[in-house]
Amino acid sequence: GSGILAGKRGLIFGVANKMSIAWGIAQAARQQGAELGMTYQGDALKKRVEPLAESLDAKIFGHLDVTDPASMDAVFDTVKSEWGSIDFLVHAIAFSDKNELTGRYVDTSAENFKQSLFISCYSFTDIARRAEPLMAEGGSLLTLTYYGAEKVMPHYNVMGVAKAALEASVRYLAADLGPSGIRVNALSAGPIKTLAASGIGDFRYILKWNEYNAPMRKTVSIEEVGGAAAYLLSPLSRGVTGEIHHVDSGYHVVGMKAVDAPDI
Ligand code: NAD
Repeated sequence: GSGILAGKRGLIFGVANKMSIAWGIAQAARQQGAELGMTYQGDALKKRVEPLAESLDAKIFGHLDVTDPASMDAVFDTVKSEWGSIDFLVHAIAFSDKNELTGRYVDTSAENFKQSLFISCYSFTDIARRAEPLMAEGGSLLTLTYYGAEKVMPHYNVMGVAKAALEASVRYLAADLGPSGIRVNALSAGPIKTLAASGIGDFRYILKWNEYNAPMRKTVSIEEVGGAAAYLLSPLSRGVTGEIHHVDSGYHVVGMKAVDAPDI
Protein backbone atom coordinates (compact mmCIF):
# COMPACT_ATOMS: atom_id res chain seq x y z
CA GLY A 1 0.00 0.00 0.00
CA SER A 2 0.92 3.68 -0.06
CA GLY A 3 0.81 6.42 2.58
CA ILE A 4 3.14 7.52 5.36
CA LEU A 5 2.02 4.59 7.56
CA ALA A 6 2.16 1.90 4.89
CA GLY A 7 3.39 -1.38 6.37
CA LYS A 8 2.92 -0.13 9.94
CA ARG A 9 0.77 -1.79 12.59
CA GLY A 10 -0.70 0.06 15.51
CA LEU A 11 -3.14 -0.01 18.41
CA ILE A 12 -5.70 2.71 18.98
CA PHE A 13 -7.20 2.85 22.49
CA GLY A 14 -10.11 5.18 23.24
CA VAL A 15 -12.65 4.90 20.44
CA ALA A 16 -16.11 5.25 22.02
CA ASN A 17 -18.11 6.41 19.01
CA LYS A 18 -17.69 8.31 15.77
CA MET A 19 -17.21 11.60 17.59
CA SER A 20 -14.13 10.29 19.44
CA ILE A 21 -10.76 11.90 18.76
CA ALA A 22 -9.37 8.35 18.60
CA TRP A 23 -11.75 7.69 15.72
CA GLY A 24 -10.39 10.71 13.79
CA ILE A 25 -6.89 9.34 14.38
CA ALA A 26 -7.90 5.81 13.35
CA GLN A 27 -9.36 7.06 10.07
CA ALA A 28 -6.29 9.16 9.26
CA ALA A 29 -3.91 6.31 10.14
CA ARG A 30 -5.87 3.88 7.98
CA GLN A 31 -5.93 6.39 5.12
CA GLN A 32 -2.14 6.53 5.39
CA GLY A 33 -1.88 2.77 5.02
CA ALA A 34 -1.70 1.50 8.64
CA GLU A 35 -3.11 -1.80 9.84
CA LEU A 36 -5.07 -1.14 13.02
CA GLY A 37 -6.07 -2.85 16.23
CA MET A 38 -8.69 -1.43 18.60
CA THR A 39 -10.32 -2.16 21.95
CA TYR A 40 -13.57 -1.09 23.57
CA GLN A 41 -14.41 -0.31 27.18
CA GLY A 42 -17.20 -2.62 28.28
CA ASP A 43 -20.18 -4.11 26.49
CA ALA A 44 -22.00 -0.80 26.17
CA LEU A 45 -19.32 0.49 23.79
CA LYS A 46 -18.68 -2.85 22.09
CA LYS A 47 -21.62 -2.49 19.73
CA ARG A 48 -20.51 1.03 18.75
CA VAL A 49 -16.84 0.21 18.26
CA GLU A 50 -17.25 -3.07 16.35
CA PRO A 51 -18.83 -1.61 13.20
CA LEU A 52 -16.37 1.30 13.22
CA ALA A 53 -13.40 -1.08 13.48
CA GLU A 54 -14.86 -3.25 10.75
CA SER A 55 -15.17 -0.28 8.40
CA LEU A 56 -11.39 0.23 8.66
CA ASP A 57 -10.56 -3.50 8.50
CA ALA A 58 -9.24 -3.12 12.03
CA LYS A 59 -8.80 -6.02 14.42
CA ILE A 60 -10.68 -5.89 17.72
CA PHE A 61 -8.55 -7.00 20.64
CA GLY A 62 -11.47 -7.08 23.03
CA HIS A 63 -12.40 -5.25 26.21
CA LEU A 64 -9.87 -2.91 27.78
CA ASP A 65 -10.39 -1.07 31.05
CA VAL A 66 -7.16 0.52 32.27
CA THR A 67 -8.29 0.12 35.89
CA ASP A 68 -8.56 -3.66 35.39
CA PRO A 69 -5.07 -5.18 35.09
CA ALA A 70 -6.53 -8.51 33.95
CA SER A 71 -8.01 -6.81 30.86
CA MET A 72 -4.67 -5.08 30.19
CA ASP A 73 -2.83 -8.42 30.46
CA ALA A 74 -5.37 -10.08 28.16
CA VAL A 75 -5.17 -7.40 25.45
CA PHE A 76 -1.37 -7.25 25.40
CA ASP A 77 -1.08 -11.06 25.49
CA THR A 78 -3.44 -11.32 22.51
CA VAL A 79 -1.57 -8.63 20.57
CA LYS A 80 1.70 -10.45 21.27
CA SER A 81 0.41 -13.82 20.14
CA GLU A 82 -1.51 -12.54 17.09
CA TRP A 83 0.78 -9.77 15.85
CA GLY A 84 4.09 -10.28 17.66
CA SER A 85 5.02 -6.63 17.31
CA ILE A 86 3.56 -3.15 16.83
CA ASP A 87 4.89 0.11 15.37
CA PHE A 88 2.66 2.63 17.15
CA LEU A 89 0.09 3.04 19.89
CA VAL A 90 -2.45 5.79 20.56
CA HIS A 91 -3.76 6.43 24.08
CA ALA A 92 -6.93 8.58 23.93
CA ILE A 93 -8.28 7.81 27.39
CA ALA A 94 -9.30 10.10 30.23
CA PHE A 95 -11.89 10.13 32.97
CA SER A 96 -13.06 12.18 35.93
CA ASP A 97 -16.25 12.25 37.94
CA LYS A 98 -18.44 14.77 36.13
CA ASN A 99 -19.46 16.37 39.44
CA GLU A 100 -15.90 17.60 39.87
CA LEU A 101 -15.62 19.14 36.38
CA THR A 102 -17.54 22.14 37.56
CA GLY A 103 -17.15 24.50 40.49
CA ARG A 104 -13.81 24.90 42.25
CA TYR A 105 -10.70 22.72 41.88
CA VAL A 106 -9.97 23.19 45.57
CA ASP A 107 -13.02 21.06 46.39
CA THR A 108 -11.73 17.96 44.55
CA SER A 109 -12.15 14.78 46.59
CA ALA A 110 -9.22 12.48 47.34
CA GLU A 111 -11.08 9.57 45.77
CA ASN A 112 -11.74 11.34 42.47
CA PHE A 113 -8.22 12.80 42.44
CA LYS A 114 -6.79 9.28 42.62
CA GLN A 115 -9.18 7.91 40.03
CA SER A 116 -8.69 10.79 37.55
CA LEU A 117 -4.90 10.71 37.81
CA PHE A 118 -4.85 6.93 37.54
CA ILE A 119 -7.06 6.68 34.45
CA SER A 120 -5.92 9.86 32.70
CA CYS A 121 -2.19 9.78 33.49
CA TYR A 122 -0.87 6.55 35.01
CA SER A 123 -2.60 4.40 32.38
CA PHE A 124 -0.36 5.87 29.68
CA THR A 125 2.77 4.89 31.63
CA ASP A 126 1.35 1.43 32.30
CA ILE A 127 0.55 1.03 28.58
CA ALA A 128 3.99 2.33 27.53
CA ARG A 129 5.69 -0.29 29.73
CA ARG A 130 3.53 -3.04 28.25
CA ALA A 131 4.12 -1.78 24.68
CA GLU A 132 7.91 -1.57 24.96
CA PRO A 133 8.59 -5.30 24.45
CA LEU A 134 6.31 -5.25 21.37
CA MET A 135 8.40 -2.44 19.84
CA ALA A 136 11.75 -4.15 19.45
CA GLU A 137 12.28 -2.30 16.14
CA GLY A 138 11.32 1.05 17.71
CA GLY A 139 7.96 2.77 17.62
CA SER A 140 5.80 5.77 18.37
CA LEU A 141 3.53 6.28 21.40
CA LEU A 142 0.99 9.09 21.36
CA THR A 143 -1.39 10.48 23.97
CA LEU A 144 -3.95 13.29 24.01
CA THR A 145 -3.77 16.33 26.24
CA TYR A 146 -5.37 19.75 26.62
CA TYR A 147 -4.29 23.35 27.23
CA GLY A 148 -5.90 23.11 30.69
CA ALA A 149 -2.62 21.39 31.69
CA GLU A 150 -0.73 24.65 31.10
CA LYS A 151 -3.22 27.32 32.09
CA VAL A 152 -6.26 27.45 34.34
CA MET A 153 -9.41 26.76 32.35
CA PRO A 154 -12.84 27.10 33.94
CA HIS A 155 -14.31 23.75 35.10
CA TYR A 156 -11.35 21.67 33.90
CA ASN A 157 -10.13 21.39 37.49
CA VAL A 158 -8.65 18.00 38.45
CA MET A 159 -8.41 17.06 34.77
CA GLY A 160 -6.02 19.98 34.26
CA VAL A 161 -3.83 18.61 37.03
CA ALA A 162 -4.04 15.12 35.49
CA LYS A 163 -3.07 16.47 32.05
CA ALA A 164 -0.12 18.38 33.57
CA ALA A 165 1.07 15.08 35.06
CA LEU A 166 0.44 13.33 31.74
CA GLU A 167 2.54 15.92 29.87
CA ALA A 168 5.38 15.52 32.38
CA SER A 169 5.13 11.74 31.97
CA VAL A 170 5.46 12.15 28.17
CA ARG A 171 8.88 13.73 28.81
CA TYR A 172 9.99 11.08 31.33
CA LEU A 173 8.80 8.25 29.08
CA ALA A 174 10.57 9.84 26.09
CA ALA A 175 13.80 9.81 28.11
CA ASP A 176 13.33 6.22 29.28
CA LEU A 177 12.31 4.74 25.94
CA GLY A 178 14.37 6.88 23.55
CA PRO A 179 17.40 4.56 23.77
CA SER A 180 15.14 1.73 22.50
CA GLY A 181 14.07 3.83 19.52
CA ILE A 182 10.61 4.44 20.95
CA ARG A 183 9.30 8.00 20.65
CA VAL A 184 6.69 9.45 23.01
CA ASN A 185 4.63 12.52 22.17
CA ALA A 186 1.30 14.18 22.91
CA LEU A 187 -1.18 16.13 20.87
CA SER A 188 -2.78 19.03 22.71
CA ALA A 189 -6.13 19.27 20.97
CA GLY A 190 -8.43 22.27 21.09
CA PRO A 191 -11.93 21.64 22.47
CA ILE A 192 -14.06 19.20 20.46
CA LYS A 193 -17.58 18.05 21.27
CA THR A 194 -17.17 14.39 22.29
CA LEU A 195 -18.67 12.09 24.91
CA ALA A 196 -15.88 12.92 27.39
CA ALA A 197 -16.20 16.67 26.74
CA SER A 198 -19.93 16.61 27.46
CA GLY A 199 -19.00 16.08 31.12
CA ILE A 200 -17.27 19.47 31.29
CA GLY A 201 -19.38 22.40 32.52
CA ASP A 202 -20.28 25.15 29.98
CA PHE A 203 -18.62 23.27 27.12
CA ARG A 204 -20.62 25.08 24.43
CA TYR A 205 -19.35 28.37 25.76
CA ILE A 206 -15.76 27.08 25.72
CA LEU A 207 -16.16 26.07 22.05
CA LYS A 208 -17.49 29.53 21.11
CA TRP A 209 -14.77 31.25 23.08
CA ASN A 210 -12.08 29.27 21.27
CA GLU A 211 -13.67 29.92 17.91
CA TYR A 212 -13.71 33.65 18.59
CA ASN A 213 -10.16 33.88 19.95
CA ALA A 214 -8.14 31.34 17.96
CA PRO A 215 -5.97 32.86 15.22
CA MET A 216 -7.75 30.65 12.68
CA ARG A 217 -11.20 31.68 14.03
CA LYS A 218 -12.44 28.12 14.23
CA THR A 219 -12.35 25.08 16.47
CA VAL A 220 -10.60 21.90 15.34
CA SER A 221 -12.10 18.69 13.97
CA ILE A 222 -11.16 15.11 14.77
CA GLU A 223 -9.88 14.88 11.17
CA GLU A 224 -7.43 17.73 11.85
CA VAL A 225 -6.19 16.00 15.00
CA GLY A 226 -5.96 12.80 12.94
CA GLY A 227 -3.69 14.47 10.40
CA ALA A 228 -1.22 15.62 13.04
CA ALA A 229 -1.38 12.19 14.68
CA ALA A 230 -0.53 10.42 11.42
CA TYR A 231 2.64 12.53 11.20
CA LEU A 232 3.67 11.82 14.81
CA LEU A 233 3.00 8.09 14.40
CA SER A 234 4.97 7.92 11.15
CA PRO A 235 8.69 7.94 10.33
CA LEU A 236 8.25 11.54 9.05
CA SER A 237 8.56 12.60 12.71
CA ARG A 238 11.51 10.27 13.47
CA GLY A 239 13.47 13.15 15.02
CA VAL A 240 10.66 14.19 17.37
CA THR A 241 10.13 12.92 20.93
CA GLY A 242 8.96 14.32 24.26
CA GLU A 243 6.91 16.90 22.36
CA ILE A 244 3.52 18.44 23.19
CA HIS A 245 2.16 19.46 19.80
CA HIS A 246 -0.85 21.82 19.77
CA VAL A 247 -3.66 21.21 17.29
CA ASP A 248 -5.90 24.06 18.39
CA SER A 249 -6.16 26.56 15.50
CA GLY A 250 -3.36 28.44 17.28
CA TYR A 251 -5.40 29.30 20.40
CA HIS A 252 -2.44 28.72 22.74
CA VAL A 253 -0.29 31.49 21.21
CA VAL A 254 -2.78 34.28 21.87
CA GLY A 255 -1.86 36.30 24.96
CA MET A 256 -4.65 38.83 25.02
CA LYS A 257 -8.00 37.21 24.48
CA ALA A 258 -10.97 39.38 23.54
CA VAL A 259 -13.43 40.22 26.28
CA ASP A 260 -16.50 40.92 24.17
CA ALA A 261 -17.32 38.19 21.71
CA PRO A 262 -20.43 39.34 19.88
CA ASP A 263 -21.75 35.85 19.26
CA ILE A 264 -21.08 34.33 22.69
P1 NAD B 1 -14.33 10.12 24.12
O1 NAD B 1 -15.37 10.07 25.18
O2 NAD B 1 -14.76 9.85 22.74
O3 NAD B 1 -13.10 9.18 24.47
C1 NAD B 1 -12.68 8.93 25.79
C2 NAD B 1 -12.33 7.46 25.83
O4 NAD B 1 -11.74 7.13 27.09
C3 NAD B 1 -13.55 6.55 25.64
O5 NAD B 1 -13.34 5.70 24.54
C4 NAD B 1 -13.61 5.75 26.94
O6 NAD B 1 -14.03 4.43 26.74
C5 NAD B 1 -12.14 5.81 27.35
N1 NAD B 1 -11.96 5.49 28.77
C6 NAD B 1 -12.37 6.19 29.86
N2 NAD B 1 -12.06 5.52 30.99
C7 NAD B 1 -11.45 4.35 30.59
C8 NAD B 1 -10.94 3.23 31.28
N3 NAD B 1 -10.99 3.13 32.63
N4 NAD B 1 -10.38 2.23 30.56
C9 NAD B 1 -10.32 2.28 29.21
N5 NAD B 1 -10.82 3.33 28.50
C10 NAD B 1 -11.38 4.34 29.20
O7 NAD B 1 -13.71 11.61 24.25
P2 NAD B 1 -12.45 12.31 23.55
O8 NAD B 1 -12.69 13.76 23.76
O9 NAD B 1 -12.23 11.78 22.20
O10 NAD B 1 -11.25 11.90 24.51
C11 NAD B 1 -10.05 11.30 24.07
C12 NAD B 1 -8.84 11.98 24.69
O11 NAD B 1 -8.72 13.29 24.16
C13 NAD B 1 -8.93 12.15 26.21
O12 NAD B 1 -7.64 11.95 26.76
C14 NAD B 1 -9.32 13.61 26.34
O13 NAD B 1 -8.95 14.16 27.58
C15 NAD B 1 -8.50 14.19 25.22
N6 NAD B 1 -8.87 15.55 24.78
C16 NAD B 1 -10.16 15.85 24.49
C17 NAD B 1 -10.47 17.14 24.09
C18 NAD B 1 -11.90 17.51 23.75
O14 NAD B 1 -12.22 18.70 23.76
N7 NAD B 1 -12.76 16.58 23.44
C19 NAD B 1 -9.47 18.12 23.98
C20 NAD B 1 -8.16 17.77 24.29
C21 NAD B 1 -7.86 16.48 24.71
